[in-house]
Amino acid sequence: MKNKVQFMLCELIMVVFFVMLSAVVLNPSIGHTLTDEPIDKLPMNNSASVSSDSTSGTTSVSPQDSSTSEIDSSGASQTGDSPNISDWNLILANDKHPLEAEFIDSIQTKKLPNGLSVDERIYEPLNKMLDDAEKQGYHLIVCSGYRSYDKQVELFNNRVQRYRDVGYTQEEAYEKGKTSVALPGASEHHTGLAVDIVCSSYQNLDDGMMSRPEIKWLYANCQKYGFIVRYPSDKSDITGIIHEPWHYRYVGVEAATEIMDKDICLEEYLGMT
Ligand SMILES: [Zn+2]
Repeated sequence: MKNKVQFMLCELIMVVFFVMLSAVVLNPSIGHTLTDEPIDKLPMNNSASVSSDSTSGTTSVSPQDSSTSEIDSSGASQTGDSPNISDWNLILANDKHPLEAEFIDSIQTKKLPNGLSVDERIYEPLNKMLDDAEKQGYHLIVCSGYRSYDKQVELFNNRVQRYRDVGYTQEEAYEKGKTSVALPGASEHHTGLAVDIVCSSYQNLDDGMMSRPEIKWLYANCQKYGFIVRYPSDKSDITGIIHEPWHYRYVGVEAATEIMDKDICLEEYLGMT
């Protein structure tokens, strides 16, 4: 009897061991939420120019290796003090950390009155910011919001085709395309947490808007609503993107306050420069 119990115990331990072993073998992603595998360097990218590109065309370009990144989309808050990229509001999307198409397509969006969409979780703070600006007499216009993976593929391929049309080879066109349109997965607009904002009196996406009181108000107040100026003028070497006074990103009030007060960018805040 004693021997039989010992044998059964032994068998049970073996079964547990093999179950645990197979879980690790079959799921190599256990223990990490994001790979750090870079894709090709994306030079200074004016992501806003993407939205104005509506030319048609098709190419066979495959801009993203689907194995490049993996992000925890649970949105669960981390315990502890250090900011964590897996917090939904701190998701990093850039050329070194492209998002997967599957993740981008799973984002729950909500439509703004003008038809553009944002992540439903930033709908309220965004509208509060716009309403409070309106009370100051500043009419702000959201001109770009959430962008799907397929939309970015279309925009990117259109840009490549444009270069092909004027005589560049496929490879040359691809390389040139990357300099003006973010590769699919690398645009922050995929997160649904970023918006481009202009004011009714100045709608050009350039530094000229810095002279407008509406934009000055945004620079001074956006963090109160959880937004940051995502691409400051002196951080291009880190973000890889030119100064974009029109591009605001939701990160939550706590992170936004620290980022704006310390004049740092999101990559610095996350320690991922
Ligand atoms: Zn933008």
